[in-house]
Amino acid sequence: MKQNKDIRQLSLEALTTELEKLGEPKFRARQIYEWLWQKSARSFEEMTNLSKTLRQKLRDEFVFNTAAESIVQKSKDGTVKLGMRLQDGRMIEGVMIPDRDRNTACVSSQVGCSLACTFCATGFLERERNLEAGEIYDQVVLLNKHSLEHSGKPLTNIVYMGMGEPLLNFSNVMESIRIITSPEGLNMAPWRITVSTSGIVKGIRRMAEEGVKFNLALSLHAATDEKRDKIMDINLSNPLDDLMSALQYFYEKTGNKITFEYILFDHFNDTPQDADNLIGLYRKVPAFINIIEYNNVEGVKLKRAKSDRRDAFVNYLRSKNIEVGVRRSRGKDIDAACGQLANKNETT
Ligand code: SAH
Ligand code: SF4
Repeated sequence: MKQNKDIRQLSLEALTTELEKLGEPKFRARQIYEWLWQKSARSFEEMTNLSKTLRQKLRDEFVFNTAAESIVQKSKDGTVKLGMRLQDGRMIEGVMIPDRDRNTACVSSQVGCSLACTFCATGFLERERNLEAGEIYDQVVLLNKHSLEHSGKPLTNIVYMGMGEPLLNFSNVMESIRIITSPEGLNMAPWRITVSTSGIVKGIRRMAEEGVKFNLALSLHAATDEKRDKIMDINLSNPLDDLMSALQYFYEKTGNKITFEYILFDHFNDTPQDADNLIGLYRKVPAFINIIEYNNVEGVKLKRAKSDRRDAFVNYLRSKNIEVGVRRSRGKDIDAACGQLANKNETT
């Protein structure tokens, strides 16, 4: 049987060529492209300014690999978690987090994750496959609807902090950002987007080469190789020295400060000595530090640091003039917080 191509994998140029083959004028390609991205149509029937015959021709040639809303969970704090079904039946998750004047979408980049960080619920899942750019885009569109519903405002920010390691799905993630930020897509400013990585040196260097305009967050969580090796396997092949020079390079090429994400684990990385080690890394590359409250995960020995230890840690950093913020956990009642995305409610 003929395997039809996903129409959203075509660039505008490629779409133009395909339509020429179908005997259609050039401007049609732009019309369709607009439907695909700006108007986020998910079927050819919606493309009402195309003739019925053309719509039929398109249906014969192409498919839509969409992510469709399947499960909606709303937290008491306004956070919305979506379970989304892909065309192949697999499920992914995304979250909309309202916070004062911001509405942030947290999107997945893979089904599962191939890296098994010891503290992360997603890390317990196998990596099944990479998401296509269109599937990432769909998450943004669907979460945007919930943003509008919640506060009458569209999304203000997007973070690639859902399931998966974005830099191990490099080209699709880059393509999704290209469309999200393009006038033909959602026209969102790139500085409103943050890609979070567990620390893939090659990927960081590649983004630097490309001179990307969005923000980069590094999931640091431990400030010595010895400790980081214990909780993140990826550190064995991408140790801190290599990571820091890749980040320096990223800053050189893009001018964007890096965010260091640092989950505080009780009696693991929350002592003054740990803070000093963290400051040592902070001095190597222009950065902010984001202290993250751990969402305890069943079966994980590491636990969230007590609030007095957290406050002492943060105050110590502040006393050394470090730029530091604290990220509180959100959507806990629905397991929507970071590291809790593990398709718990999956139905088949
Ligand atoms: N794979 C990428 C992006 C997805 S994880 C990365 O690791 O950066 C998004 C963030 O959530 C990372 O900083 C990750 O370390 C953090 N995280 C994972 N499990 C968590 C948990 N249980 N509580 C709080 N943050 C968690
Ligand atoms: Fe994967 Fe990120 Fe979770 Fe590590 S923290 S297992 S890289 S999703």
